[in-house]
Amino acid sequence: MNSSNEKTISKFDKYVTHSYGRYPLAIKKGQGRRCTDESGKDYIDFGSGIGTNSLGYCDEKWADMVCEQVRSLQHCSNYYYTEIQAQFAEKLCEITGYKSVFFGNSGAEANECAIKTARKYSFDKYGKGRHNIITLVNSFHGRTLATLSATGQEVFHNYFFPFVEGFINVEANNTDDLKSKLDDTVCAVMLEYIQGEGGVNALDKEFVDAVYELCSEKDILVIADEVQTGVGRTGKMLAGEHFGKKADITTLAKGIAGGIPMGACLFNEKTCGVLTPSTHGSTFGGNPVACAGGLAVLERIDEDGFLSEVEKKAEFIKTRLLECSEVESVSGIGLMIGITLKSKNAAEVVKKALERGLLLLTAKQKVRLLPPLTISYDELNDGLNILQEILEE
Ligand SMILES: *Cc1c(COP(=O)(O)O)cnc(C)c1O
Repeated sequence: MNSSNEKTISKFDKYVTHSYGRYPLAIKKGQGRRCTDESGKDYIDFGSGIGTNSLGYCDEKWADMVCEQVRSLQHCSNYYYTEIQAQFAEKLCEITGYKSVFFGNSGAEANECAIKTARKYSFDKYGKGRHNIITLVNSFHGRTLATLSATGQEVFHNYFFPFVEGFINVEANNTDDLKSKLDDTVCAVMLEYIQGEGGVNALDKEFVDAVYELCSEKDILVIADEVQTGVGRTGKMLAGEHFGKKADITTLAKGIAGGIPMGACLFNEKTCGVLTPSTHGSTFGGNPVACAGGLAVLERIDEDGFLSEVEKKAEFIKTRLLECSEVESVSGIGLMIGITLKSKNAAEVVKKALERGLLLLTAKQKVRLLPPLTISYDELNDGLNILQEILEE
């Protein structure tokens, strides 16, 4: 580690709360799919800031749109209107086929909005008592108290007691378990089509079919948490398209604005009228600069051939990974990839890759890849060569 990295790291560690296990890397700048640390060392980025930098670092058109917006109007309160928020909302609804959207600033906030909306939908129609939300074992929905409570992993349910009531866990892909818990206290089922933090596991199509069928029989809402899977990550605008499904509420964040904080909660015909004035809000939600970044991302994704290119790159990566003798299997859809290793430890592989100039992520025991959607085959080859070298030594 170079001394300038060290200086930043020691100052940072002195003043910033130690709530993350950080790697010893201080990133100074980025361009395209590569970034540079304070000593001048380059890294190929296969993590894109946990899927946020969907167009890579400092994409020119994106940066132009963000800078133009920040120089003309950086913020105004949600008591007023802005053209950029209208434009972004229109484009987002057109591409996804939803009726309306609420903007927040993160994935957890988008999910909080979905949870509140589902409960109010049911309260308005059926009165009190139908407030439970079913979430899946091994899910991840965020770090606020309600979204932590919704998260179906016991490791997260510690320290912060009492948690929020009203979440019931069902085993993923277990239709019998679902049936036994879908009683008349339930207002919604919330799911990730591909559990991201839980280990990059796609749900079975039959299970997703069963969720939708059972829910529609009982007027129970389906909430799709597409915070990680949405906005082109899987080669479709929404991962639900792979399952032929459109949830009553879909949440987005991570890559939606290309690395600027933004969360979105999308509503269909059934749910678009639930939130009424003063029932929900966010000071920064729908911030003009974030909307400009979001519009740049959507315009790119909407270009002819962009998403099919994402799918092709994903196939290319999978083929190369499966040629590796250390790779047991590859999971996920599109550019959301989990790698199960035969004998090596994922966290160790990520550390070694960092030393050799490749940024990777983990998800449970897997190495996880969330490369920028714009990554080139040359960059993929460079990164995969480093990974292969590590896996085969
Ligand atoms: C990352 C993530 C969240 C939380 O998003 P934040 O922006 O960190 O609040 C929620 N759900 C899923 C599926 C995620 O991947």
